[in-house]
Amino acid sequence: MTMKKTRVAVIGVGHLGTIHTEKYASMEEVDLVGVVDTDPGRAEEIAAKFKTIMYKSPAELVGRVDAVSIVTPTNNHHKVGIELLKKGVDVLIEKPIAMDASEAESLIRAGEESGAIIQVGHLERFNGAVMALQGRVSNPMFIESNRLSPFPNRSTDVDVILDLMIHDIDIILNLVDSEVAEVDAVGIPVITKKIDLASAHIRFENGCLANITASRVSANRTRELHLFQADTCISIDYAHQHISIGRVIPEAGAEPPKMVNEEIDIEKKDSLMEELKAFVRCSKSKERPLVSGEEGLKALKVATMVQEAVELSMAGLTSKNRAPDTLV
Ligand code: NAD
Repeated sequence: MTMKKTRVAVIGVGHLGTIHTEKYASMEEVDLVGVVDTDPGRAEEIAAKFKTIMYKSPAELVGRVDAVSIVTPTNNHHKVGIELLKKGVDVLIEKPIAMDASEAESLIRAGEESGAIIQVGHLERFNGAVMALQGRVSNPMFIESNRLSPFPNRSTDVDVILDLMIHDIDIILNLVDSEVAEVDAVGIPVITKKIDLASAHIRFENGCLANITASRVSANRTRELHLFQADTCISIDYAHQHISIGRVIPEAGAEPPKMVNEEIDIEKKDSLMEELKAFVRCSKSKERPLVSGEEGLKALKVATMVQEAVELSMAGLTSKNRAPDTLV
């Protein structure tokens, strides 16, 4: 018996959308139905390259597809996603899910009403190093992450908080089993008129503190996270998919106790391929994706708190001045 393929299209075939298209084209379980882009030349070029059809608008895909990737700039994720979700099309929306929480909530509602699923493109959840953290993290009390890049000349419709920092916010919210209590942050525009570099301190109700720095104006590319918990510190290099773990080994008579470092041999993953395969599986089975719309909303809400804290710091205040009920 032949397997019924999932009919998929990609909307927005710029830098990342082209890679989505390439991955889908290589999947046996997918029928790559077509691509859409507001730049007709680009859509034509990518359709020809991957031997698929160029459609003029997302509306033309209704009835032809089961699922789509939305890889347009963030400021139109809601506009593109809402019509397809209302028609029952499953969507993978690139991160961040939307520009603000009300847009994200409206997307989630539309999916709930039609039964369509939403997955959000928080790619790092499918990074081999992050997946290998499972079972190794227990009540971290301090986390530090740095995500620094040279200027990309893309994604300038949003600031660095929604462009890069949201990856680490999503990862950290998943590692800490507690609610966010308070956010303090600084940020500066460097090349664009938006915040290009930001550093946030996120304090959780259980006392854990996360220091997150994101920059799109750095000389070199860094993708690292360090996590400290009782007797253990764990370091992740996202880019090389590597983990090292330092553990305290209590030895009779040794004072202070020894700390040994272990390099963990992990299975490297093609994170985007893993993410898209998971989406296709969820579209077929209708199970809730690992990074659902709600997860995307949760990360977006904390990113918004960071943006507000940056604004306050630029005005010479700190986020701690805010009443607690305005924080979430
Ligand atoms: P890009 O500018 O290279 O490509 C965007 C494409 O969308 C362009 O070809 C543009 O013509 C097209 N487009 C714009 N509006 C459209 C519309 N209404 N309908 C159809 N097409 C439209 O941008 P990019 O770097 O590929 O980023 C796209 C999205 O992917 C952004 O949301 C960004 O945040 C996200 N992204 C995620 C990651 C990740 O690690 N998960 C990495 C890069 C980008």
